[in-house]
Amino acid sequence: MKIICIGYNYKEHVKETKAVMPAEPLFFLKPETSLILNNRPFFYPDFSNNIHYEVEILLRICKVGKNIQEKFANSYFKEIGIGIDITARDLQEECIKKGLPWEKCKSFEGSAPVSDFIKKDEFKNIYDINFHLNINGKTVQKGNTNDLIFSFEKIISHVSKFMTLKIGDIIFTGTPFGIGPLKLGDKIEAFIEGNKMLGCMVK
Ligand code: MG
Repeated sequence: MKIICIGYNYKEHVKETKAVMPAEPLFFLKPETSLILNNRPFFYPDFSNNIHYEVEILLRICKVGKNIQEKFANSYFKEIGIGIDITARDLQEECIKKGLPWEKCKSFEGSAPVSDFIKKDEFKNIYDINFHLNINGKTVQKGNTNDLIFSFEKIISHVSKFMTLKIGDIIFTGTPFGIGPLKLGDKIEAFIEGNKMLGCMVK
């Protein structure tokens, strides 16, 4: 399986990073080895001094597809989850400055804690999902899928032009405003509609 991540998909987040508003979905990949499942801990790597959290709504792909038209894209995911796109911000700033790819700062071991998934039919409207992130019990990021720049269907259609989507692939759909640093001992908790979906300790 592969993990596809969308960058700059919430306006307020684009502003906070001083990035340019994207004309099309920007995406990058994380390998399977970046996954953290079952609330296992994240181990702070020694190659960075500025590891950041980015809470994001996830889609799980349920059938194989390529060149998927936007109007059919809805049938390619049945489940929604939440995850953290853990980012080595210091390395990312260096990559951006030098015009280098992002794997070093985004795709390292354990950079993708992922929750269990909920059937999307359980949501009244998948474009009105509230989600938030707590660090040590304090809310640091809050989002609503109504604020997405590119819809889930647009993302699926766009990415599938370039690579085949397979069953079990996970899409990170972008982070809202409020990114910030993690430190040793932090307790990460991610919520969908007030229900805790994910817990992860920084060790
Ligand atoms: Mg992200």
